[in-house]
Amino acid sequence: MFSTGHEIDAPDLVRSTEASCAMLISTMAQIAYDGQKCPVVASDLSEAHWEELKQTYQVGDLTMACCDGAAIPKTSINGFPFFAHHTDECATAPETIWHREAKELVAMALHDLGIECQREQDGRPHGWSWIADIHFQFAGRDIIIELQHSPQTVKEYKRRHERYRQCGHECYWLLYEPRFLTIINAMSRIRLKTEFGGNIPAGGFKPFLPDIPVALLDTERGNGIRGAGMHCSIPEFLRAVIDKRLYWENGAWLIAPREPDPAQGAS
Ligand SMILES: [Zn+2]
Repeated sequence: MFSTGHEIDAPDLVRSTEASCAMLISTMAQIAYDGQKCPVVASDLSEAHWEELKQTYQVGDLTMACCDGAAIPKTSINGFPFFAHHTDECATAPETIWHREAKELVAMALHDLGIECQREQDGRPHGWSWIADIHFQFAGRDIIIELQHSPQTVKEYKRRHERYRQCGHECYWLLYEPRFLTIINAMSRIRLKTEFGGNIPAGGFKPFLPDIPVALLDTERGNGIRGAGMHCSIPEFLRAVIDKRLYWENGAWLIAPREPDPAQGAS
């Protein structure tokens, strides 16, 4: 998939994608609801707690977020916990499941950081032509997290990103795995052509463009966020956005270390 010399720091990402198929994606969910309709996030449970749940659950105790069907706790061949449908009657498309879950996971992580967000925030009443997946305000900033699950060209990423920027909104893109792999290829082709004159530099290069912050939201392997040289949790990513520690360097989106908290130092 990648030319020799591309230095892409996600080797198991490529392997796992080759291994995964649409069937696998469609049956692996991160969120199910318990009997009280409270969300249970598979990767938030300790290993012991997850094993206990697998041993003790009864069919019907847990329901899928996509269709209210019975959810079964399972562990993937890579060792990651997920919920699967008890039967295969679910008619919800895998992309739709991912999009709903991604919004839920980001909203829950923001809530844990003390930030309430709006989902599907409609800019149209303000004269703007967008609906943002996740919108929140922090210290006078308007911040949008787009969860991108449908195919989109680099040109369209740029157009939508610029549209948010013109409204004074920051935007960060978290992508469904197939979209992420496509965009790595598309962006690296652009960099290769425009910055390197079509010749892969001796040390290889990383694929991302400086004007669109994108990363993979990997719901199949513990809800990690990944890029070229970045690997963190959803809360760590959001914290970095809030602290303005996310930065672009040589084709990679990276997170700068946190400054020591002066309040904590004083206590
Ligand atoms: Zn379902």
